[in-house]
This record gives sequence, C-alpha cells and structure tokens, in this order.
Amino acid sequence: MENLYDLVIVGGGPAGLAAGIYGGRAKMNTLILEKVAPGGQALLTNELVNYPGFAQGSGAQIMEEWVNHAKGFGVRIKREQVREMELDGQIKTITTKKGNQYQARSIILAPGASPRHLGIKGEQEFTGSAFPIALFAMQQLFATRKCWSSAAVIRPSKSPFFSPALLTKLL
Ligand SMILES: Cc1cc2nc3c(=O)[nH]c(=O)nc-3n(C[C@H](O)[C@H](O)[C@H](O)COP(=O)(O)OP(=O)(O)OC[C@H]3O[C@@H](n4cnc5c(N)ncnc54)[C@H](O)[C@@H]3O)c2cc1C
Repeated sequence: MENLYDLVIVGGGPAGLAAGIYGGRAKMNTLILEKVAPGGQALLTNELVNYPGFAQGSGAQIMEEWVNHAKGFGVRIKREQVREMELDGQIKTITTKKGNQYQARSIILAPGASPRHLGIKGEQEFTGSAFPIALFAMQQLFATRKCWSSAAVIRPSKSPFFSPALLTKLL
C-alpha cells in the first residue's frame, strides 16, 4: 500500500523528533508530519542553555541537530498540517490540509502547545530574546545584562515555577 508507514508522528517539535529517533532506530518506517518547521517552539529562542550536552546554542542550531539525528535513522519529515485522522481498524488514515492521505499502523500525537499571547507592543518581535517565556530564560537574560533596571513578570496565577520571588533569588 502506498504511503503506508509503521509510525506517523503528528508534530515535529522536540517531542515528535525524539519519538521519531526512537521509531527510526527501531527500524520502523517512520514519518513526521510538521505543519510549520521541524523544531517546534524551541526554534523561537535565541539561547537554549538547559539542554544537556549543549552548553550554548540557539534553539534553531540545537533543533537542526535533532532533525539530522532523526533523518540519520531514516525518518522522513514532511511539511504538512494534519487535518483529520481515522483511527478505526489496524491501519489508520491521516489526511492533511493539502489533501494528501497517509496510512499508519501507529500514530503518536506530539502537537505541542501554543503559549498564550499578551497582545502587547514588541511581543512578537522580541519573543525569545528580550521577551523570554520561561523563568530560567529570564534569569539568563537578566544575569548577562546588568544594565537593565526594571522588568515585568507576567505569570499564570498558580505557577510556582514562574514566581518573581524565585527570579530575584536566581539573580
Ligand atoms: C520563546 C520560547 C523560548 C523557550 N525556551 C526554552 C528553553 O530555553 N529551554 C527549554 O527547555 N524550553 C524552552 N521553551 C519551551 C520548549 O520550546 C517547549 O517545551 C518544547 O518545544 C515543547 O516541545 P513539543 O514537541 O512538545 O511541542 P512544540 O515545540 O510545540 O512542537 C509541536 C509541533 O507540532 C506542530 N503541530 C501542531 N499541530 C499540528 C498538526 N495538526 N499537524 C502537523 N503539525 C502540527 C507544531 O507546528 C509544532 O512544531 C521555550 C519556548 C518558547 C516559545
């Protein structure tokens, strides 16, 4: 059957690529369908400093390594958005926005998440640099740019990991 894969992974972010590496290594005929660009949200950050083994590097550089790693195991990556899935039966069918259909014995969903946006000035252009998303990215940014005198922390109401008190401790 044409377009039949052992494993189809929806989403080519870190989770999808990691799953792809395992699938490929297990000699499964593996396809990753990614709607934007393989690498996912990690592509949006200038500095990704908490990935073990990579003390420095942009998200794009590190994700390029992941993509090459997956491809090295024979994983195919296609830029397509998954629209529909028929999950009944042994062979599942996936339909993309382009109208292409793929068959899969197994499917892994790794579509990630989208951070909520504030809709404030400069948010889009500075996300990942002067506008960090995570607490530890903030710490990294402020520790290296001591000339900054003020900052705003906007956090989900109950998140202990995004606390201004913890941030001041880290600086
Ligand atoms: C600005 C920024 C900075 C960050 N900095 C760090 C950091 O320094 N350290 C750290 O550990 N984490 C950081 N993160 C968080 C990290 O990027 C995420 O935790 C990680 O990317 C989540 O991986 P994921 O694969 O689960 O999801 P995602 O990265 O969201 O990937 C999911 C992918 O699925 C695709 N997708 C979704 N729906 C479909 C569909 N229907 N069809 C096809 N494809 C689809 C999306 O396009 C996306 O590429 C940062 C995030 C952002 C936004």
